[in-house]
Amino acid sequence: MLCKRGSCRIVKKGKTASINFTGESPSLAQKAAHAAAAGGRIVRAVVSGEPVLAPPEVREARLAICRACPGGFWREEGNAGFGECRHPQCGCTKLKQGLLTEHCPAGHWPATTA
Ligand code: SF4
Repeated sequence: MLCKRGSCRIVKKGKTASINFTGESPSLAQKAAHAAAAGGRIVRAVVSGEPVLAPPEVREARLAICRACPGGFWREEGNAGFGECRHPQCGCTKLKQGLLTEHCPAGHWPATTA
């Protein structure tokens, strides 16, 4: 079964269904737009005096979730070795997991996790 965007495939394993991503990375233009939006969130957080950088334990916990991404979006070797989430609303590198302003577009980890 394909999702509406044609980028995900649902594979049933016994009683459990998992989603395996089979599509391409977001385009460079999409990645640039997502990065610009992230930059805006960082600026707003800085202006508001909110913390931006995640503590190491939060960053590592997020990265562990990505490496076991239920949707299969994570590519460790993507983005020239900086890691890559290929979710259509992402395209991020490992830097994203270290920013408290960011969240998983599929809802697997929130913007702020203390
Ligand atoms: S950010 Fe979310 S969708 Fe992307 S790789 Fe991580 S867990 Fe998967």
